[in-house]
Amino acid sequence: RAKKAALSKAGASYNMGLQDTEKGVVTRFPPEPSGYLHIGHAKAALLNDYFAHELYKGTLLLRFDDTNPSKEKQEFQDAIVEDLALMGIRPDKTSYTSDFLQTLYEYCMRMIKEGHAYADDTEQETMRDERMKGIASKNRDNSVEQNLAVFEEMKNGTETGLKNCIRAKMSVDNPNKAMRDPVIYRCNVDTPHHRTGKTWKMYPTYDFACPIVDSLEGVTHALRTTEYTDRNPQYQWFLDTLKLRQVHMWDFARMNFIRTELSKRKLTKLVEAGTVWGWDDPRMPTIRGVRRRGMTISALRDFILKQGPSRNIVTMDWTNFWASNKKEIDPIAPRHTSVDVINAVKAVVINGPDKPYTEDKPKHAKNPAVGTKKVAFSKNLILDQEDVKLFQEGEEITLMSWGNAFVRKINGSNPITDIELELHLEGDVKKTEKKVTWLSVDGQDLVKADVYEFDYLMSKDKLDEGDNWEDFVNPDNCFKVDALCDSNANDLKEHDIIQLERKGYFRVDKPAKDNQGMVLFGIPTGKSK
Ligand code: ATP
Ligand code: MG
Ligand code: MG
Repeated sequence: RAKKAALSKAGASYNMGLQDTEKGVVTRFPPEPSGYLHIGHAKAALLNDYFAHELYKGTLLLRFDDTNPSKEKQEFQDAIVEDLALMGIRPDKTSYTSDFLQTLYEYCMRMIKEGHAYADDTEQETMRDERMKGIASKNRDNSVEQNLAVFEEMKNGTETGLKNCIRAKMSVDNPNKAMRDPVIYRCNVDTPHHRTGKTWKMYPTYDFACPIVDSLEGVTHALRTTEYTDRNPQYQWFLDTLKLRQVHMWDFARMNFIRTELSKRKLTKLVEAGTVWGWDDPRMPTIRGVRRRGMTISALRDFILKQGPSRNIVTMDWTNFWASNKKEIDPIAPRHTSVDVINAVKAVVINGPDKPYTEDKPKHAKNPAVGTKKVAFSKNLILDQEDVKLFQEGEEITLMSWGNAFVRKINGSNPITDIELELHLEGDVKKTEKKVTWLSVDGQDLVKADVYEFDYLMSKDKLDEGDNWEDFVNPDNCFKVDALCDSNANDLKEHDIIQLERKGYFRVDKPAKDNQGMVLFGIPTGKSK
């Protein structure tokens, strides 16, 4: 319920609703199953969900835009279904553009017969050049019979067929280049389709399939990112030419982030090159990636919906993204203590307890609901080199959750090897300058942890025109330290989010099991990186 409230609050900023909503609203999210959903897709999916389900009590369709078998896979399709569910998005109906291949074929046939489309075997580069210059293709005025014959060749994937495509006869030289006879059908015989196998040897383009299927499926409002705005007249042309039911267009801004590539083609490359561990790598801007990094789904939803329906494309900083997550996790993340192995300094408490003992302490100082943990006390502690190197002999410091102590002896320097402390529990913890974390070596089984911190995948905030993106993949993006954590960490489970005192927030990627250390991922807070 809290999630819903947050959603509605964010939604309240959508003062710009949709037009013509009296007869109901049907929106659709049309992902191509050619990769895992990223945070940009999350925006598209959440906006469609918001309008359909929150604002207008309408219908949300999930349509797999699967007409390019070379890029698409069942694995991606399954992952998209799961990720939408994870975000709490429940489509009322799922469909596939590939279910419309026969229908689309017939529409294309009709376009050809009515003189609205023609077959063209112009070389790709020449075609691009002619479109730029507004020159008509040599095939533009071929007869309907000729065009139908080639279409048949394409359908059969013959040699002639493969050399051709079908183009809509819109315009040769419209100032809007999207209107210059766009391609609507092309052959693809190389890869069987993950749903229709080898039934089809040619496939409609998105430009052609989208308006038709939107209209046939009853979509009332088609939400599209603004880079499609130039193609809106083209979409309209198909509806008009084929005398199909009208659909409203509603444009919204793409979401971009600094030092982040959101193109599935590029993300696929990072996965295939082994730059990352997979689509759910914590450095990836996928929904799975940011979740694995420690972003909660409710913070993700909230953040995205708060971006509002603005049409200005801005490149966002990750700061606010992670700051909104911190607000969510800070009040509930249990506190644990850790010391980096490489920095551990032995400390003997000369007047410490002869026998180790434990005490129950709150896991979160301000939130008793988080529960309690056992803190072990003994004569033998480890402290952090970074803290200890600032100590002076005779100084009074505070051992957090215990009390004050005098620093009696410091052995070694740079690095310090060990120290002696003398408890002074009557001392005022408010008066000390240094409050340090510590762990008792006795009275508990410390838990080993591999603690990872990550940096951006890209080394440049925003690529410039002409930059080759692969030159800007950041090679130093993963840092690991070995740490020891208090024994309570043994009970942590995968996905738990904790705070390591004075270090930051971490997500448990792998819990401790059978003496194997656990794996923790640092969660950005929006402050530093
Ligand atoms: P890519 O270029 O990575 O393949 P795409 O736009 O082709 O992305 P689709 O699967 O076709 O990917 O996208 C599904 C929906 O998500 C579309 O409506 C698309 O406009 C939207 N979308 C994709 N990227 C973003 C983004 N960065 N911000 C907002 N919406 C996006
Ligand atoms: Mg697409
Ligand atoms: Mg794309």
